[in-house]
Amino acid sequence: MSGNDDADDAADRFQTRAIHAGQAPDSETGALMTPIFANSTYVQDGPGDHRGYEYSRTGNPTRTDLEANLASLEGGEHGRAFASGMAAINTVLNLLAAGDHVVAGDDVYGGTHRIFTQVYEDYDIDFDFVDTTDHDAVREAMGEATELLWVETPTNPLLNVNDIGALADIAHEHDALCAVDNTFATPYLQRPLEFGADIVSHSLTKYLGGHSDLVAGALITDDDDLDEQFGFYQNSVGATPSPFDCFLVLRGTKTLGVRMDRHCETAMELAAWLADHEHVSQVHYPGLESHPDHELAAAQMDGFGGMVSFELDATLEAASAFVEETDVFTLAESLGGVESLIEQPAAMTHAAIPKAEREAAGLTDGLIRASIGVEHVDDLKADLQQAIEAALQ
Ligand SMILES: *Cc1c(COP(=O)(O)O)cnc(C)c1O
Repeated sequence: MSGNDDADDAADRFQTRAIHAGQAPDSETGALMTPIFANSTYVQDGPGDHRGYEYSRTGNPTRTDLEANLASLEGGEHGRAFASGMAAINTVLNLLAAGDHVVAGDDVYGGTHRIFTQVYEDYDIDFDFVDTTDHDAVREAMGEATELLWVETPTNPLLNVNDIGALADIAHEHDALCAVDNTFATPYLQRPLEFGADIVSHSLTKYLGGHSDLVAGALITDDDDLDEQFGFYQNSVGATPSPFDCFLVLRGTKTLGVRMDRHCETAMELAAWLADHEHVSQVHYPGLESHPDHELAAAQMDGFGGMVSFELDATLEAASAFVEETDVFTLAESLGGVESLIEQPAAMTHAAIPKAEREAAGLTDGLIRASIGVEHVDDLKADLQQAIEAALQ
C-alpha cells in the first residue's frame, strides 16, 4: 500500500489523483490530455481584461495543470513548477535576506551544497552543515538568525534516513521553516507535508519525469503566503519550465506509482542479493533490516525506493573497471529513469571532495551508486555479476 492509499474517498487515492488531478479535459475542445500551450502571450478582451493568462512566464495553462497535479500528489494546497530542481531550490533561497542563517544536512545533493556556499554565502547568508540524523547537533546549530532548516531523505549516496517530523519540530521551535527535498523518495513513497514540513522541493528531472528526457523542478506548500512569494519569485526571476517539459512531466506522473512499485521491488531483491555477495562489503538500502534507519524508513515511507548503494571490496581503479564493464546498467550520473544507471561517487558525483574528507563521510573508493530501473531483475543481477567477475577476479 503506497501513496496514501488508505484515504477514505476512492477518488482521492494516489494512483487515481496521478491520472486525473489538475487534468480535466480541455473545456474548449474536449481534448483528453492537457494540450501543450505553446504561447508567450494571450489575447485581452480589453486592457487588463484577460481570461486568467497574460504572459507565459507569469502563467501558462500546461504549467497550471502540472502544478495542480504535483500539489495533489504531495497532499499540498499549492504547487509551483520551475525550469530545474536547482531553480526550485533557488526560489526557496530567494525568501532569505542578508544576515540570515540556514542549517542543512552535511550530505545534501552536491548542487545544493554549491548554490548554498558558492552563490548565497556571497550575499551574506550563512550556512551550517550538520548530520541531520543527530538531532542534538541540529538543535545546537540553530540560532536566532536561523530562518531555514534544509533536509534531504533518503540522502545521496549513502541513503541515510532523516526523521522529517522531528526535524520540522526543531525548525518550528526556532521559528524557522523546514524544507524537504523529496526527490529520492517521490510523493508516492513519502509526503513531507504530512509530517509537518513547510516546503517540499523536487527535481522533476528524476522519478517524476521518470524517463531521463527533461530537466524541471517544483515546490509544494500548504502555506498561502509562501506560495504567493514563490509565485512572485517564479515570475520575477523567470526560471520557468517550457510548456513542452510540463507536458512531459504530466505524462511521467501518470505512471509514477507503477514505476515506483517496480523500482522498489527490484531494488529490494538486488540489495538482498548484493548483501550476500562475497565481493561486496556493505549495502546501503533502507529496506534491509541491517540498515541503521530501517525502522524509521518503514514508519515514514510507503516503500524503500529505487536507489541502492554498495561497497565493493576494491580499489578506486577496480571499482572504475566494474562500472565500465556493466552492459544493462549505463554508466551515467542522474537517477530516477526507467533505465538502470550506475556510477562511482568517489570518481564522479563526489570527486570534488578531498579524499580524506570523502572517506570520513563514508564515501569510499569502492562505493557504487545504482539507480535501479524497470528492466527485468534477472538481467540486472546477471549484469552486476558479470561486471564483478570481469573487474575483480
Ligand atoms: C538532481 C537533484 C537536484 C537538482 O535538480 P536538477 O533538476 O538537476 O536541477 C536536487 N536535489 C536532488 C536530491 C537531486 O537528485
